[in-house]
Amino acid sequence: MTKSTVALVNYADNCYDKLRVEHMVRRAVDLIGGIGRFVRPGQRVLIKPNLLRKSPPDQAIVTHPTVVRAVVRLVQEAGGRPIIGDSPGGPFSPTLLRGVYQSAGLVEVAEETGAELNYDVRAERLPAPEGRLIKILDICGFALDADVIISLPKLKTHGLMGFTGATKNLFGLVPGVTKAGYHAKLQTLDQFAEMLLDIVTAVKPAFHLMDGIVGMDGDGPSAGDPYPAGILLCSTDAVALDLVATHLAGLPLERVAPLRVARRRGLTTGSIQDIQIVGEPLESVRLEGFRAPGSGAKDFSILPHSMRQFFVRQLVASPQVGEKCVGCGICAQNCPMQTIRIENQRAIINLSNCIRCYCCHELCPEKAITLKQSWVQRLVR
Ligand code: SF4
Ligand code: SF4
Repeated sequence: MTKSTVALVNYADNCYDKLRVEHMVRRAVDLIGGIGRFVRPGQRVLIKPNLLRKSPPDQAIVTHPTVVRAVVRLVQEAGGRPIIGDSPGGPFSPTLLRGVYQSAGLVEVAEETGAELNYDVRAERLPAPEGRLIKILDICGFALDADVIISLPKLKTHGLMGFTGATKNLFGLVPGVTKAGYHAKLQTLDQFAEMLLDIVTAVKPAFHLMDGIVGMDGDGPSAGDPYPAGILLCSTDAVALDLVATHLAGLPLERVAPLRVARRRGLTTGSIQDIQIVGEPLESVRLEGFRAPGSGAKDFSILPHSMRQFFVRQLVASPQVGEKCVGCGICAQNCPMQTIRIENQRAIINLSNCIRCYCCHELCPEKAITLKQSWVQRLVR
């Protein structure tokens, strides 16, 4: 296996100063060959940030707009036509997109740079010949229209997968609530991770640039805490990038489902020694005290469905609705098992049907859903 290259740029002071971020992004992309290696004049270039849900940049849920802006500038320098797009959680509509772009600071980026914001909500199908579980992928039409895709993940934990990185970021190209269908069909961790890898191999972004200037630890991808990591990572290889990021964060490969499955598929050896790090040396960065998610999500693929449900209930954290609930219904709309109802302006979860996918926890705008550890988790703590 040839060594993949991952660029590591250490920024040190964790603020999103425009000029410094521009410099840092340019350096990261230069370290893997420069923007001219990936973008030709006249090409339509999709820049795909992580826009999980409507959220201001300082909460560290979405890719920061200064990083998006810096990539837009690079693409324009190379003569490309940048378009910014993602499919956040919830029904995929221009109204939803308008709100998400506004809160993420991307309307200003578009006005300042002339980049286009995507409002096309067509769903298309993409063959995935290298896919293990998915041979035909449901995908946003705007992604198929692009000549080049640049993915901009955020360095964050993830209740289900362990880590939200370059691999997980591309799930955002599955249109709106179609995502819930994938959760309902692929209920074990490893199945879901296989599907994420199928997307990566089908979509093939030109490169991935991870915003780790301020990431998120704890109960990510939306209810954790901002974690000032002060780094950018850049690579053409999503799996290698995630391996380096999780290594720095101290998350063992076994706890990160897409990496565990990628090793089984031969997409990585799982060893950091097999990756060529360029830029700052790995030892110069330490993400001290970075907290893993508390969900304790585990794979029970080898068990039959009925036993699996039993073990999930005993060993894995369950979603719990708290006082902050305002009854908006977003969790119910996005629950793949339709096991949430709204009564008296409050969400009620029927846990007997819950598959612990944590979509409700991710998408609740009030952070009203917490992950309650199972009795076994509490016992062994
Ligand atoms: S739990 Fe959150 S998403 Fe669900 S209804 Fe309450 S506030 Fe809305
Ligand atoms: S209640 Fe929440 S965790 Fe359970 S299946 Fe629905 S969205 Fe997933």
